[in-house]
Amino acid sequence: MQKEFITNSPEETEAFGEALAGQYVAPHVFCLTGDLGAGKTAMTRGIARGYGFDGRVSSPTFTIMHVYEGAETVHHFDLYRIADEEELDAIGFDGFLREGISVIEWPDDYEVRIGPCTRITITRVSDTKRHIIVEEKDV
Ligand code: ADP
Ligand code: MG
Repeated sequence: MQKEFITNSPEETEAFGEALAGQYVAPHVFCLTGDLGAGKTAMTRGIARGYGFDGRVSSPTFTIMHVYEGAETVHHFDLYRIADEEELDAIGFDGFLREGISVIEWPDDYEVRIGPCTRITITRVSDTKRHIIVEEKDV
């Protein structure tokens, strides 16, 4: 089943992520799809807060993964620059997905490997408005 939402500010998107986090216990994977500037990192900030982390959240573009320690450990991935799956092997990607919470920006090329996740698709409607689709992906 697929659910659709609208947010009207980055704060609303963060609050949405925080509320969403309350609905899933670890281990759990969130896949965030959307163009650059859609709000994937804003959503991740809210999700991390929902699991008790109140520090800084930013796209791990060059490091592939950031780890946020709260009530749960949140692994924040950005797969945009991954050239091949051996880079995922090298960091022990599959193991991280099996423990705690994982939030994955740019999952698209690796969806089969990632497996089941809550997929969040964010689309820019205007400068401040975002359309959000949440669906459970089983494959
Ligand atoms: P991404 O990680 O998808 O590249 P970011 O979360 O880093 O995107 O950036 C989203 C940008 O869009 C930020 O500059 C933010 O202030 C802006 N923005 C405006 N409206 C919204 C909204 N409703 N939700 C999320 N971000 C928004
Ligand atoms: Mg980002």
